[in-house]
Amino acid sequence: MSYVDEVIESVVKRNPGEPEFHQTIKEVLESIRPVIDANEEFYRKDALLERLTEAERQVKFRVPWIDDKGQVQVNSGYRVQFNSAIGPYKGGLRFHPSVNLGIIKFLGFEQIFKNSLTGLPIGGGKGGSDFDPKGKSDREVMAFCQSFMTELYRHIGADTDVPAGDIGVGGREIGYLFGQYKRIRASYEGVLTGKGLSFGGSLARTEATGYGVMYLAHEMLKINGHDMAGKTVVISGSGNVAIYAVQKAQQLGAKVVTVSDSTGWVYDPEGIDVEALKEIKEINRARLTEYINYRPNAEYHEGRGVWQIPCDLAVPCATQNEMTIEDAKQLVANKCTAVVEGANMPVTLEATEYLQKNGVLFAPGKAANAGGVATSALEMTQNSERLNWTFEEVDSRLKQIMIDICHNMADAAERYGAPGNYVVGANIAGFEKVADAMIAQGIC
Ligand code: NDP
Repeated sequence: MSYVDEVIESVVKRNPGEPEFHQTIKEVLESIRPVIDANEEFYRKDALLERLTEAERQVKFRVPWIDDKGQVQVNSGYRVQFNSAIGPYKGGLRFHPSVNLGIIKFLGFEQIFKNSLTGLPIGGGKGGSDFDPKGKSDREVMAFCQSFMTELYRHIGADTDVPAGDIGVGGREIGYLFGQYKRIRASYEGVLTGKGLSFGGSLARTEATGYGVMYLAHEMLKINGHDMAGKTVVISGSGNVAIYAVQKAQQLGAKVVTVSDSTGWVYDPEGIDVEALKEIKEINRARLTEYINYRPNAEYHEGRGVWQIPCDLAVPCATQNEMTIEDAKQLVANKCTAVVEGANMPVTLEATEYLQKNGVLFAPGKAANAGGVATSALEMTQNSERLNWTFEEVDSRLKQIMIDICHNMADAAERYGAPGNYVVGANIAGFEKVADAMIAQGIC
């Protein structure tokens, strides 16, 4: 059996009941197979893949807190510190009822390669809780965040592990988490990113992931002879990534006609009104049903359905496995040119393969949504310098990072005989740097 197959089998056996983790291990190891096969003896002796697929450390902890009725509630908290070969662990915290160890491991593993791809010195990690901030009062969210940080603080630090936001963790949560860290440690340090602008946050961090997705999409279309201007774009989600992807796509001359949330979706043939979307989601924290109050010509539908709308570019920005093989078939039938993953692993493996086989350009999330973590790393740099850069400075660095990522993944795919296969390209480009660093640092 080949080394790659052996490791996949062993990971599945040793990590039972974690389908998302198995899925990402298979996807990544399959796509770096050409590099592994070329160096099989050397990597095998070093147990490089066994070390790469086993987190350096994973912590699960109790998070007790008191709700507004005086009832004590208990959630599970997680931090998985996956790989620190090229820098301190870096990766978001997700607060969502679906969170479990397998999901955090999948996200932490993906983060290693994404962070490496940015070209910045950051390792891979991820954390979170099955706590659901939805419908909770500010006081309840604060109580939860303070309890969460009361355990997490001992595992993180500006040079050790620097968490950020993810689903369910935005500016409000980062503020409460930072306040509690500072209080316990008596230290004012850049231990979290995505902070408010008044306490060390970076301009353009809020916009970074969504903007980055579209900078990469723009470059990928360009190197394949297409132009973003005039394209019809279908986007899912209506959270942080989706909102700013909509905004940047519009600035680049495209028309975005859909957004969605966990209960339904909107079709606005005249183009999504991004200011209305921001008011509904960022300010009122309301459902998308409200969108038609702002735009009477738009349609609201319950359930899922954005991928049936004909488009040139499809950008899933909600959550994992939200685009299935049926959706992929619909997109191909509608002559979609490109799919760019805004969320982490939103397209199933089967759907990805179908899209690629049918000539649809496909950019994986670890490349396309790396703008968030890249800008987080720029926030770390500003915190270390004790300086704040302008919006334009951060945005122009972000844009260049995304352009570089696009070329790096395209070049790596080409070098290993898979031109145009950006899944292979992104994984190989991310892997090479981490593998070099791991080998140079000896067995650890
Ligand atoms: P948000 O919480 O801001 O938004 C998530 C959006 O997806 C919301 O519209 C939400 O709907 C919807 N959603 C969540 N879960 C589901 C589900 N199970 N089914 C259908 N819709 C769902 O998260 P972000 O925008 O920050 O993140 C979106 C994705 O991008 C995630 O995969 C995240 O890991 C990834 N990502 C985010 C980065 C960032 O900087 N924010 C960086 C890199 C990756 P509702 O409003 O109903 O909850």
